[in-house]
Formats: sequence, structure tokens, C-alpha cells
Amino acid sequence: MRGLVTKSTGSWYLVQGEDGMRVECRIKGKFRTKGIKTTNPIAVGDWVHYELEPDQESAIITELEPRKNYIIRRSVNLSKQTQIIGANLDQAMLVVTLASPPTSLGFIDRFLVTAEAYGIPAMLIFNKLDLFSEEGLEILDDYMAIYEQIGYPCLAVSAQEGTHVDEIRKTLKDKITLVSGHSGVGKSTLINSIEPAVALRTGKISDWSDKGKHTTTFAEMIDLSFGGKLIDTPGIRELGIVDIEKNELSHFFPEMRARLNQCRFHNCRHINEPGCVILEAVEDGEIETSRYESYLSIYHNQDTRN
Ligand code: GDP
Repeated sequence: MRGLVTKSTGSWYLVQGEDGMRVECRIKGKFRTKGIKTTNPIAVGDWVHYELEPDQESAIITELEPRKNYIIRRSVNLSKQTQIIGANLDQAMLVVTLASPPTSLGFIDRFLVTAEAYGIPAMLIFNKLDLFSEEGLEILDDYMAIYEQIGYPCLAVSAQEGTHVDEIRKTLKDKITLVSGHSGVGKSTLINSIEPAVALRTGKISDWSDKGKHTTTFAEMIDLSFGGKLIDTPGIRELGIVDIEKNELSHFFPEMRARLNQCRFHNCRHINEPGCVILEAVEDGEIETSRYESYLSIYHNQDTRN
């Protein structure tokens, strides 16, 4: 039997069969992702084959179909465990807010780099629009311009009041979209506003923590009544970037990527080299300082290799 994984926990998976029936599945420990050991070798969005157990109530996953793409993240606590947060994605939507509690630009940039590295188009939703004064709205526009200029669609919304939620629906229609965001940005409120039927679900999914890993839900797929699916991931405290080589990093900043072959040295690190067009562009204000600072911070972080 063939089905789509709609929920992934540390120990079992919910699979929706092609017949529409959902069954709880387990694996027998033979799935690995490209040499990276993950806490959940099978992820939400995966297509799998499975065999029902004699009780007909549970099943064993026997095969994982090749993935179009996936996103992995690493826990930033000591365990450094990695986890696949979604597979076969059409796009990723990061919910952020500049108000209570503000999302840092560094976090936004790390998310975008991750999406670039995995080849997944990303967009930013700036929530809590209702909290902004006129002056605040100008600042919000400035922040959105940073990302729009380099090609990331941005939308300011109020999940609470439903402002611009219709526009989000249009971008989600008929696509598989991963939704992420720090806890507290209003991701649950937004999902409920996009798809009110979701409010009927029992509680919201819990944070990923190593402590409760046997009961913690890593991600869950939600069917959209107007077409498409959302993959809801637990609030991310930090995003550990996995699998990026230092010398590749600039390729995952679109505004740097566009200028790369103009540096004097072909192996320029864009840190202090003479004839570096990236440094010039930062100085001229063509590349946003905050974006360049994120580049340096990821470059010097141990999450990237060599
Ligand atoms: P999550 O942790 O990202 O799922 O965030 P929640 O949806 O639980 O929301 C966190 C808090 O932000 C709650 O108190 C919400 O009522 C509030 N909130 C969510 N969206 C909005 C919004 O658009 N405007 C305002 N003012 N508050 C919001």
C-alpha cells in the first residue's frame, strides 16, 4: 500500500493511504538520509509504502520513495540531533513579527539560507500588523523592502484580525507549503485564520525537545479546504544550519550570488580580500549591512563546515 506521511513523531508516523484511510506506522530502522543520521528518518510529506500488521490497525513502512527535496534542521542544544522537518515541498513560509516578541533578522536570514540550500522558494509573513502605529508601519515597510529587493515575497498581515489572510490563501492554493516560525509569532492563530476547521484539532503541536521526544510531534500536515497542504512545524527556537560548506555559503544569499564572479579572486571569502565586489556593495549600500552580518555570523559559526 502507498501513502503520504501526514504526521511525524520521534517514534511513529501517521500515513494517509491512497484509499484515504489513516494508519499509524512504524519503521524497522533501515532508513537513512544521505549519511546524515536523523531522529526521524521518515518525514511529513514523504511518500511511503507500508504493510498492515495482522491487527489491521497499525502498519510497518517498508519503502521510502525518492524525495523531490527536504529541509533538515539541527537542535542547537548539546545533543545536536538533526531532524527532517518536511519533504517534497513546493515552498516555505516563515512567519515573523517585529512586535512582541520581535524576530531577529539573523534568524530570518538563517531560515532563508536553509531554504536556498535546499532549493525551496521562501516567503516571509510579517504578522501582528494591527500592533503598528503609523511610524511603526514605516519601519515595517523598510524591513520588508530588504527582503523584497532580493526576491523574497513579503506580506504584512494580522492573523488576529484576518487582515490580508486572503492573499496568503492565494499563495498557498494547490501547493505544499512548510510553515515555520518562532513560538509566539502567531503561527497557530494564522493557521486557524487561514483554515478555521483546524481549530477543531486537539491542541497545538508542541515544541521539539529532546526530553519528550517519544511523544513530541515534529510536524503535521494540514489539508486546506481550498486546495493545497500546509506542513505545520513546532515553534523553532533556533535553526541549526546543516550541511553547508563555507565556500558555498555566499551562493545562498541571492544578492551575493548575483555578483560572485566579479571578485578579483575566484576563491574570495568576502571578508577582507582586496577587489571584493561584495564588500564594495556593502559599503555602497547595495547589499544590506544586516544581510552581510548574517553572512559573517553563519560563516564563522561552527554549523558550517571548514
Ligand atoms: P505561535 O506560538 O506562533 O503558534 O503563536 P500563537 O498563535 O499562539 O500566538 C501567540 C500570541 O500572539 C497570542 O497571544 C496571540 O493572541 C497573539 N497574536 C497572534 N496573532 C496576532 C496578531 O495578528 N495580532 C496581535 N496583536 N496578536 C496576535
